[in-house]
Amino acid sequence: DTRSDARISHLALDIGGTLAKLVYFSGNKKLLNDDRVQSSAEVGGRSSSVLHGRLHFAKFETRKIDECIAFIHSKELGSQHPKELGNGKIVKATGGGAFKFADLFKEKLDVCLDKEDEMDCLVAGANFLLKAVHQEAFTYIGGQKEFVQINQDDLYPFLLVNIGSGVSMIKVDGNGKFERVSGTSLGGGTFWGLGKLLTKCNSFDELLELSQQGNNRVVDMLVGDIYGGGDYNKIGLSSTAIASSFGKTVSANKVLENYRTEDLARSLLRMISNNIGQLAYLTALRFGLRRIFFGGFFIRGQCYTMDTISVAVHYWSKGDAQAMFMRHEGFLGALGAFMSYNK
Ligand code: ADP
Repeated sequence: DTRSDARISHLALDIGGTLAKLVYFSGNKKLLNDDRVQSSAEVGGRSSSVLHGRLHFAKFETRKIDECIAFIHSKELGSQHPKELGNGKIVKATGGGAFKFADLFKEKLDVCLDKEDEMDCLVAGANFLLKAVHQEAFTYIGGQKEFVQINQDDLYPFLLVNIGSGVSMIKVDGNGKFERVSGTSLGGGTFWGLGKLLTKCNSFDELLELSQQGNNRVVDMLVGDIYGGGDYNKIGLSSTAIASSFGKTVSANKVLENYRTEDLARSLLRMISNNIGQLAYLTALRFGLRRIFFGGFFIRGQCYTMDTISVAVHYWSKGDAQAMFMRHEGFLGALGAFMSYNK
């Protein structure tokens, strides 16, 4: 697509602990006549049409921030890009990296990172996507993906669970009306970090790929393992329920090398996803919220992850609450930063 090569007229960044996310607009004309991202805009996939140009999405590993900088350099920030009064160009940026790498961006690209609050951006991005983008949120139940019709008048309140390196849980009551009510440090970074140590995988995708071929029962202690194969009916636990994640590894006479990396990866993915699903439900319960939207790059559209989270929310809420996933999962913050040009 030749238009993808056009100069960047607006760029925003979300530089997190693990990934640096970019949202940028390329086009020949002014961003929008009314100077705001129109609510009918369609964003999707890696790049999508937005009126006179295209909105693009890209990500880089934060530990390789130089690649991100080289990419921006290669695209060039066009003359339409916002400037400081009489000075160099400014780029809206959020996430911890907006602070950590401010000097580097100034030095290498001569841009000034204009910092926006991370939670403000997450919520703005989520609200925009849920209101403006057709087929953004979906449920994942029994292997079936089903898009959710969002009733604009009945969107709030909801719980936004962003699963990045760590996890933030935010109660959203409206535009700019929110509170970070919970979170956990057992997040995507835990899965990726522990997974890397246990399997020696070199990339996140490789770890996910491994997990798809594994069997967690080799590693996890199930109710049936404790009860000699039977259920624990009195409290409604089936023999296949996980009693203890990784619990089987203590009783077997094995060392790490005796386990298949596939099984370790699967058990780990299940453990982290289950735990987040349960915590999300408990947080929703605490505030009387029935809708829970999940974002963040941990999810990666991965069936097993979404299924585990959905089952956890369904199981603990006895079907009362529903897990919904967002198609632009990891780009909520970057989109929010992008939209802040129009504040
Ligand atoms: P953060 O802003 O904290 O970097 P993200 O929403 O970008 O959070 O999600 C980071 C998490 O996404 C990682 O901890 C990991 O679990 C997962 N992930 C998905 N894709 C990748 C990738 N290509 N490299 C590393 N981690 C990835």
